Amino acid sequence: MTDRHTSIPGICLVFPCYNEEEVLPDLLRTLRALDLGIPTRFLFIDDGSTDGTLQLLQAACQSDHQMAYLSFSRNFGHQVAVSAGLKYARGDLVAVLDADLQDPPELLNQFIAKWRDGYDVVYGIRTNRKEPWFLRVCYNSFYHLLSKTANIRIPRDAGDFALMDRKVVDVINSLPEHNRFVRGLRGWVGFQQVGIKYARPARHAGRPSYNMKRLTRLALDGLLSSSSAPLRLSAWLGAGAAFLGFCYLVYALSVFLSGKDLPEGWTSTVVLILFLGGVQLMVLGILGEYLGRIFDEVKGRPHYVMNECAGWLTEPDRIKERRVLDGD
Ligand code: UDP
Ligand code: MG
Repeated sequence: MTDRHTSIPGICLVFPCYNEEEVLPDLLRTLRALDLGIPTRFLFIDDGSTDGTLQLLQAACQSDHQMAYLSFSRNFGHQVAVSAGLKYARGDLVAVLDADLQDPPELLNQFIAKWRDGYDVVYGIRTNRKEPWFLRVCYNSFYHLLSKTANIRIPRDAGDFALMDRKVVDVINSLPEHNRFVRGLRGWVGFQQVGIKYARPARHAGRPSYNMKRLTRLALDGLLSSSSAPLRLSAWLGAGAAFLGFCYLVYALSVFLSGKDLPEGWTSTVVLILFLGGVQLMVLGILGEYLGRIFDEVKGRPHYVMNECAGWLTEPDRIKERRVLDGD
């Protein structure tokens, strides 16, 4: 890989935050001590927190010119918060990290070294998952399914923790979809991408806000927005059910022709109705999921509603930057 990225860049670290008051003091302390060797800014997206997160961010941004935040009018979801962060981030490099210190900011030094080697996207690959076995099985199956069905390459065990070159961020920002699965969009963009393995520590404090329902939603968004394979699957299921029905017909006819008594009809009829009904409902469900997403896109509503912002977001640029920034 050639050494293409040599200019002195500014980097912006984006943190989506939802009810993170317990971990924010630690995070802010870590960030103030962080030295990446290049001009650094921090951007916090308060995703409609209901605890003291916003007040902590307000205080931090008043006293520290490296920091800025923007807050949403309500909770719009992690992926939307990351998307807003990418939109408002400034600098030649943008990194996305969880606010709970599960993505160690010091690791960005290694990421930046890779970027200097010429890579445009450097993402973290989790080597150890500290989740309960049940969640681990779910994650593994999800990534497996995704790698088998998606039309694009989404690296296994890579989350949203990544460093991206400005040109990648600009492309992601220009993508219009509402159901945003950021790591899928990042994979779709292309350019030179590389993963760095890291042991993902447990959450520093506070509670994870992803419960089973939200994780399922994210997994569905990931699968359905990156792949049309489920639609194909439904066609195969339908064909399979029809084939089974046909086999049963052949069996019933052969029994009839051989002069034996027909088996009692009740059980088989009920089984067939249940089976076919189930397949039809499942196929309708899959179609419905796609339809719902198309409906969301067609409505064309903004992805989020901003409440307020402060810090360097409201000021003219202080860090010298190589390229012209977004048009906001
Ligand atoms: N988050 C967010 N909006 C939400 C849920 C989560 O901005 O609706 C943020 C959260 O503050 C954290 C990151 O997304 O910085 C990851 O969330 P969490 O730690 O709950 O997820 P996990 O690490 O368990 O995947
Ligand atoms: Mg977390």
